[in-house]
Amino acid sequence: MPDFFINGQPVHAEKGQTVLQAALAAGFYIPYFCWHPNLSVAGNCRVCVVEVEGENGGENWSEIACNMPISEGMRVLTDSEGVRAQRKQTLQFILLNHPVDCGICDKAGECMLQDHHYAYNGEPSVSTVPKVKATKYHELSERVVLDNERCIVCSRCVRFTREISKSHGLGIQNRGDHSLVRATEDGRFNRDAYSDNVVDICPVGALLAKNFLHKARVWYLQATPSVCPGCARGCTVNLWHRKREWKLNALDPKQNTEIARVTPLENAEVNGPWICNKGRDLAAIFERPRALQPLLKGRPASLDEAAGAARRLIDEAKRPVALVSSWGSNEELAALKARLGGRVTSFVKADHLPAPGEVLEDELLIRADKNPNTATAQQLFGSAPVAFPDGTDLVLVWGEGFDFTRLPRGAKLIYLNSYLAPENGHADVFVPISIQTERAGSYTNFQGHSSRFERCLPKPAGVIDAEMFFANLAVAAEVA
Ligand code: SF4
Ligand code: SF4
Repeated sequence: MPDFFINGQPVHAEKGQTVLQAALAAGFYIPYFCWHPNLSVAGNCRVCVVEVEGENGGENWSEIACNMPISEGMRVLTDSEGVRAQRKQTLQFILLNHPVDCGICDKAGECMLQDHHYAYNGEPSVSTVPKVKATKYHELSERVVLDNERCIVCSRCVRFTREISKSHGLGIQNRGDHSLVRATEDGRFNRDAYSDNVVDICPVGALLAKNFLHKARVWYLQATPSVCPGCARGCTVNLWHRKREWKLNALDPKQNTEIARVTPLENAEVNGPWICNKGRDLAAIFERPRALQPLLKGRPASLDEAAGAARRLIDEAKRPVALVSSWGSNEELAALKARLGGRVTSFVKADHLPAPGEVLEDELLIRADKNPNTATAQQLFGSAPVAFPDGTDLVLVWGEGFDFTRLPRGAKLIYLNSYLAPENGHADVFVPISIQTERAGSYTNFQGHSSRFERCLPKPAGVIDAEMFFANLAVAAEVA
């Protein structure tokens, strides 16, 4: 493996690494826009320029670090006076037509152009010619809009659709300062199930997600590590929500407790740096109207009364059955197994089935099983299809997805659900349970990787964690 020198310090490099890769791995900072660790090298932004020291007294020369293979003994300067001067000129060039409208840009606070500008340029434009005007709001798809004036034509978004999502949905029209990123006319980008990743990888604020457009400044938000429950891949994500210290008092208070956006949480073993668009829309799943009131045959009750009634029903049942949620966390599933596993016959059900028009499965991330924890649920409770034994006189249904017309005639019903549903009021005992954002836990994906999610939003009054509810049922299990 070659050893080379960065700023006079010996650095070990892996075979085939470029100067940029080896420098970043060794902790040396080199700025870049168009380079991305998961995309091919384009080498068009030129800001990663470094100086290579000439051999045997020869002159130093400049080269872009992203496309320069390392050779044994090579000596590279990443922050020399010459390098800084070239980067300054490159940034002046990149900013020639950029509107610098950071004050109204969703990328402000996360923008690589802001960061590199202040690190290497920091001066007003040297140009006396008016900036080229372009489309400020161009819809690339139903989900993604483009501000052409902010685009620095790095081609990351185009390469993403060619190399990662494979939709080939984006291209660049025209040349020079008339270059425009555009979607192909056949709607491929609109159908790209991973299209929103281009918003993350756009180094500037040119690509914007419609579901986050002008919604919040990012410095008011906090990211909590979580797991997407949208399918058995279990992609790790960041759930962005309002920081407590920036709580809104005057505007809609719902904004303090809602998910503002979802972004990938890079995870080499599960999803790399990507997620699908369904993962971006978790707010639509989590923020459905909630069930907040325990009920006994439709009559409001306290959580204690509901737990007591559930205990009595389990005590009295001769042949109780539990339908286990494949959205339960590892911890909740273990609690159910520990407390009731020997008392009830259990079947794992699919809480969610593919929605009409949803991508069923593909070769990148999306899995046909639209539940996050089928693996652990089946490991603990088996994979037999739901079949009620003769004489079933009590059914505990945990979570969504059960067709209540299949309930055995005359059987009592204990129902644990988080959302408003017509069946809630018909159950003998209805218990409103917390959702993933209101508790911590973990899921195990179809490959056996366990990923943890943290609590990020407060649990509403009247709601209990399923794990706690199962613990309360222990008395019944032990008595039986
Ligand atoms: S829209 Fe963003 S990612 Fe695409 S070419 Fe322009 S700057 Fe690069
Ligand atoms: S691939 Fe599955 S787990 Fe990953 S973001 Fe999409 S729905 Fe969620």
